[in-house]
Amino acid sequence: FENELTLLTYQQNGNEDEFHEAYEEAIESVKAELGEYHGLRIDGNRVDTDDRFQVTSPGDLDLEIGEFASGGESEVDAAVSAAEAAFPEWERRDVDARTEVFRTAADRMRDRKFELAATLSLENGKNRTEAMADVDEAIDFLRFYSRELERSDGYRFDTGQPTPRQHTTNLLRPYGVFAVVAPFNFPLAILAGMTTGAMVTGNTVVAKPASATPLIAHTFVDVLADAGIPDGVCNLVTGGGSEVGRPLTEHEDVAGVAFTGSREVGLGIERTFREQGKRGPVIAELGGKNPVIVSDEADLDGAVEGVAKGAFSFSGQKCSATSRVYVYEDVFDEFTDRLVDSTEQLGIGRGEKLETVVNPVIDDSALERYRRITEQARTDGTVRTGGSVIDDDDLPEGRYVEPTVVTDIPHEHDLAREEHFLPFVTVHPVSGLREGIEKSNDSDYGLCAGIFSEDDEEVERWFDEVEPGMCYANRTQSATTGALVQAQPFGGWKFSGTTGKFAGGYWYLQQFMREQSRTRVE
Ligand code: GLU
Repeated sequence: FENELTLLTYQQNGNEDEFHEAYEEAIESVKAELGEYHGLRIDGNRVDTDDRFQVTSPGDLDLEIGEFASGGESEVDAAVSAAEAAFPEWERRDVDARTEVFRTAADRMRDRKFELAATLSLENGKNRTEAMADVDEAIDFLRFYSRELERSDGYRFDTGQPTPRQHTTNLLRPYGVFAVVAPFNFPLAILAGMTTGAMVTGNTVVAKPASATPLIAHTFVDVLADAGIPDGVCNLVTGGGSEVGRPLTEHEDVAGVAFTGSREVGLGIERTFREQGKRGPVIAELGGKNPVIVSDEADLDGAVEGVAKGAFSFSGQKCSATSRVYVYEDVFDEFTDRLVDSTEQLGIGRGEKLETVVNPVIDDSALERYRRITEQARTDGTVRTGGSVIDDDDLPEGRYVEPTVVTDIPHEHDLAREEHFLPFVTVHPVSGLREGIEKSNDSDYGLCAGIFSEDDEEVERWFDEVEPGMCYANRTQSATTGALVQAQPFGGWKFSGTTGKFAGGYWYLQQFMREQSRTRVE
């Protein structure tokens, strides 16, 4: 399987300039189309609602992304009914007929990748590198899951004749209607991954995108429609969590849920689903509080770069973001000083700007959270750099904050235990590997972890003893973020996930299906 690596490919071909030109042109053309109204998508039709909500760009609050229909219980009902009605025929389709839709959609996304990346930057503030990586990952999910289903013959095989005349086929079958609830931070990749997982295996879907990122979700549904997805297989209901998310995930005819988002919401969905007596899957990817160890055997340049990128790219709004760093005492001061210097060099600005690493945060509640935790860090620890909301006349009106490095916070402090989803990292001294691993593991979460050490034995021991889903050693490009489909399956242990099976991995699709054996006496 070959990953889509757009920017790297341009760089390797020596024409990175063309990448930037194409992206900047796409920004202009996407901007020209913004501000439209978008209805819900139910059974292949656009459905209007009386209530609507506006979305503006986090980096420029005067830039209106669009106006969107705000669904409620009756629209959720209609969408679930449409998905139920479409299910029997979609399930019966040959595997190839189903994967054909997603392979075609992947091709269309490839043709439109700059437009999609530009839409992402404007809608959720991602810089161009991250936005294109989001598009690449979405394409990868469509292609990888199609390939996996084909490679496994649609999870159907003959078990043969155990006794004369008895013939058995063993297969995995879809459940029915899946509710898919997607986050704002990878509003294309994660939406595409979860919906494709459900649909390619024969389920039908009602999807709710995050309220901050409905436009890219519409574009994805357009692409699927162009690629020939039958009406009713993929329905989209935009709106708020309590208006749409709750009635959708609690709908009696929903057989399974795929969710990516906060631990609190994800576990709440799972609890209610079980209380309803449902037996289907709740496939949830939840938060992280991702630790990185910096050894005295580390290449400190690499460690500083990896931690800065892991903590601050997309402003730390990733469940994989580096959020606590355990540094061996004898290199603690040097590492921290260098991390502070390097953090102060990071470009802060609108996603579309070439130099931007730290983009605006998504909404007012993120801004409020930032104010609260930085205030607490000033009181209970030392803010080494950052800590303020930016008010700069050179920037448009947006939600800009400084990337923040904090020391002198006890490991047990809430600031070092809770997920903040912000450009905020705490740095702690440790006596060595044992304490580093103990503290890394002393968390409810188990999503990603990193280590920087040139000592192979140390790294090997860390791999064996650390407790997250994804472990990255010496990853300068980013200490904990940026997993690639198939190469680095993505998911969590402990409270970071509910099923222990990872997105973009070999066992992901099986979660959307249940087993049946069929014996026929001939
Ligand atoms: N898959 C992404 C990464 O590896 C993170 C996804 C998320 O934040 O939900 O960085």
